[in-house]
Amino acid sequence: MRVHWHRRDLRLADNRGLTDAPDRPIGLFVFDDDVLAHAGAPRVEFMLDALEGLRGAYRTRGSELLVRHGDPATVVPRTAAALDADVVSWNRDYSGLARERDERVRTSLDSAGVTPQQVHDAICHEPGSITTNAGDPYSVYTYFWKKWRNREKDEPRSIPELARADPETEPLPSVTDLGFDDPTADVPKAGTDAARELLDAFLEADVYRYGEARDYPAEACTSRLSPHLKFGTIGIREVDERVRKLLDDSVGERRESVAEFRSQLAWREFYAHVLYFNPEVVTANYKTYPNPIEWEDDEALLEAWKRGETGYPIVDAGMRQLREEAFMHNRVRMIVASFLSKDLLIDWRRGYAHFRELLVDHDTANDNGGWQWAASTGTDAQPYFRIFNPMTQGERYDPDAEYITTYVSELDGADPTVIHSWHERTPTERANAAPDYPEPIVEHSQRRERALEMFERARDDNDE
Ligand code: FAD
Repeated sequence: MRVHWHRRDLRLADNRGLTDAPDRPIGLFVFDDDVLAHAGAPRVEFMLDALEGLRGAYRTRGSELLVRHGDPATVVPRTAAALDADVVSWNRDYSGLARERDERVRTSLDSAGVTPQQVHDAICHEPGSITTNAGDPYSVYTYFWKKWRNREKDEPRSIPELARADPETEPLPSVTDLGFDDPTADVPKAGTDAARELLDAFLEADVYRYGEARDYPAEACTSRLSPHLKFGTIGIREVDERVRKLLDDSVGERRESVAEFRSQLAWREFYAHVLYFNPEVVTANYKTYPNPIEWEDDEALLEAWKRGETGYPIVDAGMRQLREEAFMHNRVRMIVASFLSKDLLIDWRRGYAHFRELLVDHDTANDNGGWQWAASTGTDAQPYFRIFNPMTQGERYDPDAEYITTYVSELDGADPTVIHSWHERTPTERANAAPDYPEPIVEHSQRRERALEMFERARDDNDE
C-alpha cells in the first residue's frame, strides 16, 4: 500500500501524485502547526470544507482519507509504519518553507526505510522547464508567456484505483478546534464539484467578455477559481485543457478573450517559478535598490487602510470586499496595494501580511508577486514612478460607482461624480453628499511627490 500525503491538492481527479507513483494510494492530510500559524480563518474554513469533500470521495471508493495533527516529519513516517506502507507520495510545493519541510520528511522516511516519491503536479510546467535560451529563469513575464503557451501540455489524469482500507479515523476538526474564530467573511463553497460548477459557468459565458471586462470590478466577470487553484480542488491540466479547447473553437475577439484568460493562468505559473528560484522574496524585495527604501509605516494610516476608511472610495470598497468576502477583485487589489505602498508609504510586507490573513485564495507566490509588482520591488514590476491615482482609477474602472457603493454603504445614493472627486470636495459638499463617509486621510498629489522622493533616495547610489 502507498500513502499519498495531500497538501494543496485536495482532489482525486487530475492528481498526478495519485496516478504517477506505484501502488494503490490511501490518503493522508496532516494539520501542521507551522502552516496553521500563517493561515487565516477564511482559508482554514475553505480547506476544511475541501477536506470533507475529499474524504467523502475516498470513502465512496472504499478507501479513506486519514487526518493527523503534528509535525509531518514525525507524523508521515508514523502513519506509513502503522499502515505498513512501502511508499509515501506527495505533490511538490514550490515555496522555500515547504521545500525545507519536504526535505525533512524525505529524510525521516528514508531512515524509516519507506520510499518517498515527489511528483510534479500543481502547475503545468515545472520550475526550470521554461527558461531563456541561456537556461536562466525568466524575469519578464511576456517572454515566459510566449514559451508557456506553445509548450505541449500534459493530459489531465483520471481517478486511479485507491487502496481498499477501513482504518481507524479521526473526525475532521472544526475551524474553532484549530484555534481560529469562525470567519466573519462569506467563504465560498470548496470541493471539486464547486470548482467545476464555477469553471462550467465561466466558460459558458463570461470568458468571452473577460478580455474587455476583467478590469471592471462591478462586472464580476472573472472565474473566481483562485481558492480552488490554491487548494487544488481542481487540477490545472483539467482547467487548461478546457480553456485550450475553447481557444481552438473560437475566432476573433472571442478567441482573444479566451487567450487573455489563459494568460492569467500563466501568470500564476510565472510567479511560482519566481518563488522557486528566489525563495527569499517572501520577506525580501526581489529588486534591490542601492539604499534601503525608507517606508514610513504610520500605524494609524495602516489601520485606516485595513478598516476601509481612507476617504478614497475605490480603496475603501476593496478593503471592505476583502473583509466581507475574503476576496478582492484583481484591479482593486492593484489599486489598494499601490495606495498602501505609494500613498501611505507603508512597506508592502505589512499589506501582504494583512492579505495573507484575510484572503481565502492567499497563495504565497501570487500574493507576493502582486504586492511586489505594485510596490515596484518585484520582478517585471510597475516602474517606481508609475503611481496609480486612486480617483482616476475609480472613475475609469467603476464609472457608475456601482462596485464602490456595493461595499461602501455611506456613499449609497451619492452622485458618482462626487464620489470620484471626493478629495476635491469642500467639507460642506462632503457633509451634504455623504455625512458618514470619512475625509481623505492623505492628499494624493503630495504623497505622490513624497513617494517619488522616497524611491529616488533608494535609487541614488551617489549618496556619499
Ligand atoms: P481570474 O481573472 O479568473 O484568473 C484565473 C486564475 O488565474 C486565478 O484564479 C489565478 O489563479 C490566476 N491569476 C489571475 N491573475 C493573476 C495574477 N495577477 N497573478 C497570478 N495569478 C493570477 N492571486 C491568488 O491566487 N492569490 C493571492 O494571494 C493573490 N494575491 C494578490 C495580491 C495582489 C496585491 C495582487 C495585485 C494580485 C494578487 N493575486 C492573487 C492575483 C489576482 O488578483 C487573483 O488571482 C484574482 O483576482 C483571483 O480572481 P479570479 O480567480 O476570479 O481570477
